[in-house]
Amino acid sequence: MPTNPTYDVVVIGAGVFGSWTAHHLAKRNQRVLLVEAHGPAHNRASSGGESRIIRMSYGADEIYTRWSQNSLIQWKELFAAAHQNLFQQTGVLWLSSPSDSTLDHSIATLRLHHVKHEILPQNELALRYPQLNLDGISRGLLETESGILLARRAVACAVENALRHGVQLRIAQIQPPSHTAKTLDFIETSSGERISAGNYVFACGPWLGKVFPQLLGSRIFPTRQEVFFFGTPPGDSRFAPPHLPTWLFQPDEVYGMPDLENRGLKLANDTHGARVDPDTQSRLPSPESIEWARNFVARRFPAMKNAPIVETRVCQYENTSNGDFLIDRHPDLSNVWLAGGGSGHGFKHGPAFGEYTAALVLGQGTAEHRFSLATKQVHQHRTVH
Ligand SMILES: Cc1cc2nc3c(=O)[nH]c(=O)nc-3n(C[C@H](O)[C@H](O)[C@H](O)COP(=O)(O)OP(=O)(O)OC[C@H]3O[C@@H](n4cnc5c(N)ncnc54)[C@H](O)[C@@H]3O)c2cc1C
Repeated sequence: MPTNPTYDVVVIGAGVFGSWTAHHLAKRNQRVLLVEAHGPAHNRASSGGESRIIRMSYGADEIYTRWSQNSLIQWKELFAAAHQNLFQQTGVLWLSSPSDSTLDHSIATLRLHHVKHEILPQNELALRYPQLNLDGISRGLLETESGILLARRAVACAVENALRHGVQLRIAQIQPPSHTAKTLDFIETSSGERISAGNYVFACGPWLGKVFPQLLGSRIFPTRQEVFFFGTPPGDSRFAPPHLPTWLFQPDEVYGMPDLENRGLKLANDTHGARVDPDTQSRLPSPESIEWARNFVARRFPAMKNAPIVETRVCQYENTSNGDFLIDRHPDLSNVWLAGGGSGHGFKHGPAFGEYTAALVLGQGTAEHRFSLATKQVHQHRTVH
């Protein structure tokens, strides 16, 4: 450990996880530097999308329900203090097939935690949402108080808030750390500057495997994920809130959002795409995905058949083997922490993730086994959705 380090903690990566971790460390009176290669929630980061769902249902994975509840409170407090309206309470509608037992687990957990919801049989769904084709859907679960975080702006807001709490922000790329001792004395930027701290939190999202190639190269699986926005018919409000909530067609593994801020109906395939490098993957959608998205819209939203694609995004999930987060100490370096593995569902949890990580770094929290490095395998078998 360096004597008289400049900072108590350096957090590397200003995505949703790094920003909130920096914020919670600063709230605990730590001198914090946040280092980011490109700027908070830039358009290649996993947190760089326009919008992310915040929902409470997680089947039987109750910890994520609790973290979502905790996080939504913190997000709302952040936005209220900043006088920004970056949460949209659209409701989140799960559309499910008869064989879906996960929905029953979700309902039980929502009841246990007093999350407001409605269970909608098929006939009620058809009455409320005539703009949807409900083939194969037998019931719905509507989380009435869940919705959408306007993601990249929400991260910018979290960073501004962290700066108000005394966090410093530096734009620089940190080199993969090399070490021979049991602690890290300093990290080095790509221009050769050394930065020393008591602890280092690497919240590098899909880049974690590049920063720690031996340790995490085979344990973080960045996958290509394509997102489409379809223009809604002129003069037709059926695809905007409150007529359409955020939706998840469970049998199709496809989710999307209503027309928010007049950007169009958003949809994305939740199945994992090909493994990619976040620095080099093409950000243009593939012809196959475009065709798939057009077919999906025509099938599930018949009145939007032939709707134009008005915007696309290509991003990446940063999956762990089963979808549980990775929040743990580096096995060889006692003052280095690994914080990531959002796995396509992490955004909403930024505040609770930051709170947990800050406590762990300061030796104040209880470690959850499921977030440990020991549970992260080198083969993917997704169990958390
Ligand atoms: C298409 C898509 C849809 C999603 N939908 C949802 C959703 O609806 N709801 C939900 O909750 N979650 C969702 N997610 C998941 C969620 O967005 C991610 O889990 C979360 O944003 C991960 O945040 P992060 O901070 O770990 O990573 P990132 O946002 O990628 O941040 C990591 C940062 O570290 C920086 N960095 C990396 N290496 C270095 C270095 N060497 N030096 C300096 N800086 C470095 C990067 O520049 C980057 O800014 C979705 C993800 C995608 C891609």
